[in-house]
Amino acid sequence: MKSLPSKICTVCGRSFSYRKKWEKVWDEVLYCSDACRRSKSVEAKLNYEEAILSLLRTRSTMASICPSEVLSSEEKTDKEKMELVRRAARRLANKGQITITQKGKAIDPDSFKGPIRLKLNSLQ
Ligand SMILES: [Zn+2]
Repeated sequence: MKSLPSKICTVCGRSFSYRKKWEKVWDEVLYCSDACRRSKSVEAKLNYEEAILSLLRTRSTMASICPSEVLSSEEKTDKEKMELVRRAARRLANKGQITITQKGKAIDPDSFKGPIRLKLNSLQ
């Protein structure tokens, strides 16, 4: 059985599979859902992907960070900002640039819950 093509949502970072309704526009599809399409502008202004990568590059190779480390101390309590960082982490993980871990083990970027840590993949 051939598996369906899939893409990484440019907003939430989850991978999503081809659907019949996208038959004619699949090449242009960027978002997994209408909710993600609507929040794309907010997401674009807050470049957490770059923030995560530059923070990880300042650490030693094997070190991991908590996603909240990219936020300022006032922002750490902001649930919405935290979610944006976690989404950015998911995008980076699905692109193969970082690994998301829980209790030291790599986990599936599409379905994690609870506290996570981020680790840079080698050869960046
Ligand atoms: Zn999405």
